[in-house]
Amino acid sequence: METTQLWKKLLEKIKPQVSPINFRGWFLQASIGEINDKKIVIYVPTAFFAEQLKTRYFDLIQSATKELINQDLSLEFKVDSSKLVKEAPEDIFELGNFQTTIAKPALNPKYNLENFVVGLTNNVAYAAAQAIVQNPGTAYNPLLLYGGTGVGKTHLMLGIGNALLKKSPRLKIIYSSSETFTNDYVEAIQTRKMADLRARYRRADVLLIDDIQFFSGRDSTQEEFFHTFNELQTKNSQIVLTSDRPPQEIAKIEDRLKSRFVGGLMVDIQPPDFDTRLAILKAKCIEKGEILPEETLKLIASSLDSNIRELEGKLIQIIQALSSKNLPPTIENITPYLNGSTKNLRIDYKKVLSVICEHFDLNLKDLTGPKRQKGLVLPRHLIMYILTEDLNLTVEKIGQILGNRDHTTVMHGRDKIKELIVKDREVQKLLIDIKQKLSTLN
Ligand code: ADP
Ligand code: MG
Repeated sequence: METTQLWKKLLEKIKPQVSPINFRGWFLQASIGEINDKKIVIYVPTAFFAEQLKTRYFDLIQSATKELINQDLSLEFKVDSSKLVKEAPEDIFELGNFQTTIAKPALNPKYNLENFVVGLTNNVAYAAAQAIVQNPGTAYNPLLLYGGTGVGKTHLMLGIGNALLKKSPRLKIIYSSSETFTNDYVEAIQTRKMADLRARYRRADVLLIDDIQFFSGRDSTQEEFFHTFNELQTKNSQIVLTSDRPPQEIAKIEDRLKSRFVGGLMVDIQPPDFDTRLAILKAKCIEKGEILPEETLKLIASSLDSNIRELEGKLIQIIQALSSKNLPPTIENITPYLNGSTKNLRIDYKKVLSVICEHFDLNLKDLTGPKRQKGLVLPRHLIMYILTEDLNLTVEKIGQILGNRDHTTVMHGRDKIKELIVKDREVQKLLIDIKQKLSTLN
């Protein structure tokens, strides 16, 4: 038999045994190379393909070959994209009515692995994401990313999806959230289209489910998702999940589902530390074609923490405000936009006191005591400023904290720094350093 003829016959045998999407995704992109009495060489477009075909369909291909030519041949996969069959014969392409239900993957290309800034707080998660792109379905399945809001879980998950799509454009990748899944499920029940729902989700090669914490308390949705999960896992489809907390801590999730969630690799993403925040700000500036001085970015990075979404929002707010007023991005000009934003920092006044003491090499007794020597004045004023502007404490309370000083003294100290910060570079630098120290304490 001629080789192309043989390949066609092979595909006809294989077709009924795999899902349409897998057939189209894996087999129609491969082609036969050579065949002799010992082996059959199959050309595939990428190494990833070779591996997938090997892990998923080795037995299937081998037994189909044996049926056809009644001989045990070894299988060899060779990567050669030029040998790729671009247009498969019509009869093989025909997928019944399933074709109409294929949705283009709705993955926002904005979130990719290239623009994901890697730092100490997310490098493990990033490495896991890369491993999955290398070996989907086999490296870690499921991968569960968890962490607070705005730390980059969705970005990283979509980054995986986009990277896989780039490697294999025909992969069926579904991105959904636990809420969307729940809505789909409820709607499928109401419209009696359960079969469609199952077909849609269970044919995925890659299933990305965001925010699984919202499965909490939804018993019948959990049941449906449990079966979806099992089916996909059995056929080595990659599953990636995100959660705002470790799954063990999500209330009202069935134990058997929980055990699935924790059964692969779980990685947390921590709130970004100062260096990561700074790197993200720099990256966002480059992305937006904006040039801000390093010290300005440092001040922004030290004024906010935990949430990259807010950090980015603040950066945009500052850029827009300054450009509408035609002001250069100096420390003086951006400071007003940062006031109060440190309230997000999980710091209290005690941390502020100890950072200031450490920075100026003072002891707390002197700082809060009656002495008025020169070296104590500026540190006290800085405390007054940070506690009013960033921690929103009342001037009375700050007076108490600083050894029962009068509230007018506190107001004076605060105003003094407000005045200096717009003209004294030393004070600017001091504030940045101190805020940086405060924000790395978390
Ligand atoms: P989460 O899903 O954890 O709530 P997102 O993934 O939606 O957070 O991230 C919030 C915003 O911060 C998005 O705009 C995202 O692009 C950005 N972001 C988060 N982490 C990073 C990172 N490491 N590098 C670049 N941008 C990031
Ligand atoms: Mg998210």
